[in-house]
Amino acid sequence: MNEFALIARYFKRPCPDVRLRIGIGDDCAGMMVPPGEILLVTSDALIAGRHFPLDTAPFDIGYKALAVNLSDLAAMGAKPLGFTLALALPQADETWLSAFAEGLFTLADEMSVCLIGGDTVQSPLLSLTITALGSAPAERVLRRSAAKVGDLIAVTGTIGDAGLGLRIAQNPQVVPAAVDARAREFLLGRLNRPRPRVGEGQQLAGFAHAAIDISDGLLQDLSHLLEQSAVGARLDPDALPLSEAAQGWLAAEPSLRQLPWRCGDDYELLFTVPPERWADCPIPATVIGVIEAESGMRWQGGDGEVAAIAPQGFVHFASQPA
Ligand SMILES: [Mg+2]
Repeated sequence: MNEFALIARYFKRPCPDVRLRIGIGDDCAGMMVPPGEILLVTSDALIAGRHFPLDTAPFDIGYKALAVNLSDLAAMGAKPLGFTLALALPQADETWLSAFAEGLFTLADEMSVCLIGGDTVQSPLLSLTITALGSAPAERVLRRSAAKVGDLIAVTGTIGDAGLGLRIAQNPQVVPAAVDARAREFLLGRLNRPRPRVGEGQQLAGFAHAAIDISDGLLQDLSHLLEQSAVGARLDPDALPLSEAAQGWLAAEPSLRQLPWRCGDDYELLFTVPPERWADCPIPATVIGVIEAESGMRWQGGDGEVAAIAPQGFVHFASQPA
């Protein structure tokens, strides 16, 4: 199958979005950005064997590649406009392509976002790059740099599920017996098919001060927000919202207690909000700490003891010399 037949067969879909003025088939796609809104753009490259295991199900690769990009739009309070896909494939394996496209469009349809263009090339290595476009009213865009001293720090959903799912994916033998089949399936689902908080992000726009999505690990991502805002944070080590599956696992293996703070891939939103506004928070979320003037991060639990926290998460190129 040649490139054009492949695109037509797996990736060319009708797009009902009225903002799309020029779709797949021309040299460029063309979209209208609603008046008064600014265009937001994010891009993520994934390489097989590096960013996901070689045996990852193609459905999950398609789903997650789009999810991580939409999560970045969510973190800024943007409404998705569309996305492009650049796909490098060793060969045009139709079984693989059809499952990949199904995963990609399952999430695209759920989020009402269209594939508006892209490219396919042959390459010895499977890799894919998605670029997602979104828009938001300029004055409501959520930034990492807008946290204020005294703000509460809150997160959506539950944290740590994807990191525990990754442990299962890497070696099912390490899972304690207390984590039953249903819990395992839930944790793997959170790893492979994260649901980006697109609606929640838009609800937080104009309400929260600062926001970021949790991709590399909560502490790591929070440290970026703190740096950009030139503030610090005090966190309650017992406040993190955990799923039932994660609670069961950590109870059986207390040495993993800090893992949810440090593992990545949850794609939940972390945001800061002035305490007097908290009661009006438009989405379900959990307070885990507070913004302080002193830089860095500290634990302070129920016993009142304060201890410094070193941020650690997934750092690209960390193992290579500077
Ligand atoms: Mg991000």
